[in-house]
Amino acid sequence: MKDLLPAGVKLQGEGGIAFVIAGPSGAGKSSVISALLSRDQRLRFSVSATTRPPRPTEVHGRDYYFVSEEEFDRLIAQGALLEWTVYQGHRYGTPRAEVVERLKSGLDVVLKVEVNGARAIRQANLGFPVVLIFLVPPSWEELAKRVRGRGTETAEAVAERLHIAREELKCIPEFDYLVVNDQLERAVARVEAIIQAERMRIVRCG
Ligand code: ADP
Ligand code: 5GP
Repeated sequence: MKDLLPAGVKLQGEGGIAFVIAGPSGAGKSSVISALLSRDQRLRFSVSATTRPPRPTEVHGRDYYFVSEEEFDRLIAQGALLEWTVYQGHRYGTPRAEVVERLKSGLDVVLKVEVNGARAIRQANLGFPVVLIFLVPPSWEELAKRVRGRGTETAEAVAERLHIAREELKCIPEFDYLVVNDQLERAVARVEAIIQAERMRIVRCG
């Protein structure tokens, strides 16, 4: 196909693209990302470091790097984090090297972060396209139901997560796409459509 293109034009998908998925706790980010990764060989998940304790189903190195406060301090001091934030008293950060190396090798990276992280990744001038996707459940009621239904937080922590969610929803205008996660399969197909379209975007170079 490349021999058909005029000079100074390429497809965005010829290089790596960073797909950032944000949205309130319980929106279904982890569920959607897990389905995407199993279907798309070019996608890699950016495993974040966190000081939060693991949930029963979470695996170190797959879902998060679960680190001590001291280790997180070291990561910051070494400049190893692309961005980091505090959420509900725990720190979460994106390891820079893993993301940049994968993008450089032409792979696409999917990042699961809260809204400040999404903003920071866009402003980081990675030298690669950054696509910001905001995931929402179909209603506020359904959001509350899912956070409670996951059963991984105390009632107090759930209430605080819902309070944070209200604030996060105000950031939707900063995003490129809004995806409703009503049924998981449909939400995954919507995100896949965005990924495919972004890869086919025409880029004028030079
Ligand atoms: P997040 O990563 O955004 O916090 P999760 O992926 O952990 O959200 O999903 C929160 C809860 O909602 C989980 O128990 C998950 O199984 C459930 N869930 C996710 N998507 C759907 C959906 N489309 N319909 C019903 N339940 C869902
Ligand atoms: P959880 O405790 O539910 O796994 O995550 C809490 C919030 O932190 C979620 O909104 C999640 O997307 C966000 N988060 C996870 N990793 C990172 C990260 O590396 N950076 C930022 N900024 N947020 C993150």
